Amino acid sequence: MENLILAQLGMGKEEENQAKANENIYLVGKAVGGEIGRAFLSGIDDLNEYVTKLKEILINLKVGVLKVVSADLEKGKIVVDIEECVTCVGTPNIGRHICYFEGGLVAGILKFFLKKEVAAVEVKCCANGDSVCGFEATVKE
Ligand SMILES: [Zn+2]
Repeated sequence: MENLILAQLGMGKEEENQAKANENIYLVGKAVGGEIGRAFLSGIDDLNEYVTKLKEILINLKVGVLKVVSADLEKGKIVVDIEECVTCVGTPNIGRHICYFEGGLVAGILKFFLKKEVAAVEVKCCANGDSVCGFEATVKE
């Protein structure tokens, strides 16, 4: 099924391998996000408080500086930026998004807070010519 989708997207073997690697990195980030939640953010049920603490943690871990751009929990859409992202800051514009780990991290950390499945996609990236990395998270029902 997955191969069929990749074939339909016109991906070659190399791109296919890269896509798989990216997905694995994303899943690792997601697992780490969940662990960060469990280790440091258990019992916080206010989103602002959660984000404030999370910001400190991500700065301390040198992941980057998190900013919530918008959070519409009713629609299940959360948009965040990460400035000085550890993966891509200083990277030249290579015309690609490369921060799959951070995307997974955002998804995992939000999943822990919301106790619902969350998927995050990187929509801005320093490696794609943007000044920050941006992630759009979607909460699944
Ligand atoms: Zn990036």
